[in-house]
Amino acid sequence: MIEHMIKLNTVDHETIRKSNRRKILSLLYQKRELTKQEISKETGISIPTVTNNINELIAEGIIEEAGVADSTGGRKPVIVRFIPDSRYSFGINIDLDHVRIILTNLDSQIKYDTCFSITGFDNIEEIFQRIYKIVNQVIEENNIPKKNISGIGFSLPGTVNEEKMLLELAPNLGVRNIDFKIFTKLFSLPIYIENEANAAAFAELTLGIGQKLNNLIYISVTQGIGTGIVIKDYLYKGKNKRAGEFGHTTIVAGGQKCSCGKNGCWELYASDRALLKNYNKETQSNITSLKEFFTLLRDKNYTAQKVWESYLDYLAIGIQNIILSLDPHYIIIGGEISQLEDLLLEPLKERVFIENSFYKEGDTKILTSRLKENSSILGASLLPFQELFFVNEKII
Ligand SMILES: [Zn+2]
Repeated sequence: MIEHMIKLNTVDHETIRKSNRRKILSLLYQKRELTKQEISKETGISIPTVTNNINELIAEGIIEEAGVADSTGGRKPVIVRFIPDSRYSFGINIDLDHVRIILTNLDSQIKYDTCFSITGFDNIEEIFQRIYKIVNQVIEENNIPKKNISGIGFSLPGTVNEEKMLLELAPNLGVRNIDFKIFTKLFSLPIYIENEANAAAFAELTLGIGQKLNNLIYISVTQGIGTGIVIKDYLYKGKNKRAGEFGHTTIVAGGQKCSCGKNGCWELYASDRALLKNYNKETQSNITSLKEFFTLLRDKNYTAQKVWESYLDYLAIGIQNIILSLDPHYIIIGGEISQLEDLLLEPLKERVFIENSFYKEGDTKILTSRLKENSSILGASLLPFQELFFVNEKII
């Protein structure tokens, strides 16, 4: 019994120590420069504890002394400053045909950005060897000491169990149960994984539009559709880590066959892939990028406009289902289509907020992502910094 109690006390002490450190660092991250007295006042943490933490953080190179402030009597207080380039992180986004790799600092500034094509996910070893090569090259070319790399965060299109480090299911990639633990050894860096829509929602919550919003649904429109659910500032992942699979809810009974095994899934009608496929089918052409489609749309190409109108009809149905299921304050649309804000938002709202008994325009706000196509990958690169910074882990 006593042993048990001692154990509990040790845990509490460690939790408090970590929480104090995160509070101090989060404050310095926001304010950049402060004296120990100011930190103590703002956080309610005692001066000796602040001093201990500051000494530790200076020794680790995350903050530095930056002169002295005016004295209010007695010795002039020392100012400490946050160093954004003291730690780096890699964000890696994997989708059906591309792998994108970025390097960011503690301010989430993208310092390096590259992309390579893949054809499917059959040869995962080869893909990871290629990522490994790029990661090492970036570290070497920029002379970054390995201890200053906090880790690698992966954003993945499927059901991710971050505790077991498993990509459990990714129907679009045609894979199941990919164990990311083995890659920790390969990279000799901490590895973090997250579903791409959750990573995007996490980035919006931490860096983007979501900083001031409590309840939001992030809809990630890519080659599929994923959604990240944020409830009262926390990312809701569900019992089996698969909350938010709205992309695979049926919107057309007996509709097209989906790779998940069902028919008529929302993403077959409202993803990037669906948009391009429909345009190519109508025109017997073979455009492969949304950029090309957007140009046609802006040039008022008749078929592109027709395909876009029909696409918005389907996108709206899924959004109506989300509003009826979750009644969120905000819906944020991310992915490449979010760049088309002027052609997207108004016609979409007209379709979503049609006359009905439950909701009207204004009950839920529909916005486009502030971080645009960078949301998921920035969210991935934030994962390794979670330990360092965030007072709440923002995941439930
Ligand atoms: Zn499906």
